[in-house]
Amino acid sequence: MQKKYNHAVIEKKWQEKWQKEGIYNTPSEISEKSKKRYVLDMFPYPSGSTMHVGHLEGYVGTDILSRYLRMNGYAVLHPMGWDAFGLPAENYAIKTGVSPDKSIHENIKTFKRQLESTGMSYDWDHEIDTSSPEFYRWTQWLFIRLFEKGLAYKKKSPVNFCPKDETVLANEQVIDGHCERCDTPVIQKELDQWFFKITDYADRLISGLDDIDWPEDVKIQQKNWIGKSEGRTIDFEVEGQNRKINVFTTRPDTLNSATFLAVASKEGKDIKEKWGKFTGKYAVNPLTGDKLPVWETNYVDVSYGTGAIMGVPAYDERDKEFALKYHIDIVEKPFTKEILGEKTTHYHLRDWLISRQRYWGCPIPMIQCKDCGWQPVNDTDLPILLPKDIDFLPHGESPIARSKTFQEGVKCSKCGKPAKREVDTMDTYVDSSWYFIRFVDSKNEKEFASEENIKKWLPVDDYIGGGHVVQHLLFARFFWKVLFDGGLTDKSIGDEPFLKLRAPGWILGTDSRKMSKRWGNIVTPDEIIPKFGADTLRVYEMFMGPFNVMKPWSVTGVEGAYRFLGRVWRLYNQEGKAGREAVKPEVVSKLHQTIKKVTNDIKEYKFNTAISSLMELVNTMIEHKVYSSEYLEKLALLLAPFAPHMTEEIWVEILGKPFSIHKADWP
Ligand SMILES: [Zn+2]
Ligand SMILES: [Zn+2]
Repeated sequence: MQKKYNHAVIEKKWQEKWQKEGIYNTPSEISEKSKKRYVLDMFPYPSGSTMHVGHLEGYVGTDILSRYLRMNGYAVLHPMGWDAFGLPAENYAIKTGVSPDKSIHENIKTFKRQLESTGMSYDWDHEIDTSSPEFYRWTQWLFIRLFEKGLAYKKKSPVNFCPKDETVLANEQVIDGHCERCDTPVIQKELDQWFFKITDYADRLISGLDDIDWPEDVKIQQKNWIGKSEGRTIDFEVEGQNRKINVFTTRPDTLNSATFLAVASKEGKDIKEKWGKFTGKYAVNPLTGDKLPVWETNYVDVSYGTGAIMGVPAYDERDKEFALKYHIDIVEKPFTKEILGEKTTHYHLRDWLISRQRYWGCPIPMIQCKDCGWQPVNDTDLPILLPKDIDFLPHGESPIARSKTFQEGVKCSKCGKPAKREVDTMDTYVDSSWYFIRFVDSKNEKEFASEENIKKWLPVDDYIGGGHVVQHLLFARFFWKVLFDGGLTDKSIGDEPFLKLRAPGWILGTDSRKMSKRWGNIVTPDEIIPKFGADTLRVYEMFMGPFNVMKPWSVTGVEGAYRFLGRVWRLYNQEGKAGREAVKPEVVSKLHQTIKKVTNDIKEYKFNTAISSLMELVNTMIEHKVYSSEYLEKLALLLAPFAPHMTEEIWVEILGKPFSIHKADWP
């Protein structure tokens, strides 16, 4: 009689055993540096809705890679943690009164349970939570290091503000100029805010991209965000006035074809199409002496270059559109060899505004003294804890400002006189800019991470994640470079934190739409695993299509993966095995081809084709009635990273091999 495969019982059994035996613990010793691999997922925000199968795709991919690497003798660090600060938990608190601390920790429990039920091989001893004082103490410590280097400064800057709700709004809470919550028109309010001077690193953030293995489109997004342009600043005298207009251009060779000047104007900013107003003034072309009308327009960005451009409609599409609308001359002359103006470089990148007038974030560790100005908190006084006596409802200022305890007994760290703490918190992007460093030494109470562990594990070898990551990647690279320059990391590990980056494609609903509550098309592991098992979920997610492309979920696809694993199980449970029969040459060569193919495919994130070749091998073995233990062992080993539970059961209970298959050698 064939034994039926009871996935619920078998998966739970092995998950508990793996956990108990600590088989995925990070090795403390690495035989040689080339044999270390740091495999990292972009850590999740534990939201109120549970994890769905789309989130899991990247995690299954890194899990397969990590298992494969361990079987090949690598020392692997594969951690998981939580990006736990942020707006949704605070908004939930405003609505329900449940503190963010409480709701987030409920969500973390759910996310962790879901990952464990999928058979992930994380080393939970390295788990981090950015909202815990043990973590944010070091976020504050790093802020102070940036302040000391002149890379953190305060200046006035406008924020979005809802006058009815009396609250500052994040950009994503402003919908077409209106408050997302009450639909009141949003106004701009000037507030003193902290910035990080990322612009100092603009050139290195571009040049560093040359040496890392990242998808080309992600590199282009990074470059566009920085928006470097080289050109000339040319001075135009304004006729009859004792002043000049400075114009930035990347095409100084078209100066003799310029027919107007355009300066940025706030008026007309809400008009979608190009808009302009003649100022009545003329400027003199320094090359030709021509008189050029000066226009105010809405299509020149005040933050681009000098906020003024020369209009060359013959050579520029946007200028042409404007010239046609306002009947301005279009003149086409050959390019000039005489280049005027001073060489200048402009960047689109602005310094990073990190102040948030919010509760659920890392307190900024700064004190304002009447005599000494802004002073950092002493390192020995860290962490500055988030106060608990908080009214979450907005009152036009940071919720922390109304805490009765937060300012108790605060003294200037320089002169000792009574002083006030900063009441704003940090942008959550600050937490995710260095969390991958904390993972290498997450329990360290003396340092943000020890020199030894930083040198041992960093940089990250494989970084997997997608979505809105342009800013995260830029900010993390900036942080890493600051630490590198400051001698806080080891020079030997370089100044780029993520050597290889891969982005999984989105998994869509069965209706080919993005999974969303709105469409009711979300599929969660909690529906799939009880019915089909975690191994089926894993095999199906990887078999759906190439790792980096978008693909729709399919119920028949899940059933197909389930049937495949059923065939594997039957292959190992045949009655009357023939023993060590001579295996036919085509089966021998099939096995060798499959070993080669699966090995290469896993290394290249081609999990779908690895699975198809395993399916072919299984079919060949069934067809030729191959029951030789050598073949059965090799097949189990090749399948182990994909279906870790079933292969462990086969390895230990059927083939009688020592626990665990996940510690055995790759064929
Ligand atoms: Zn509002
Ligand atoms: Zn002072």
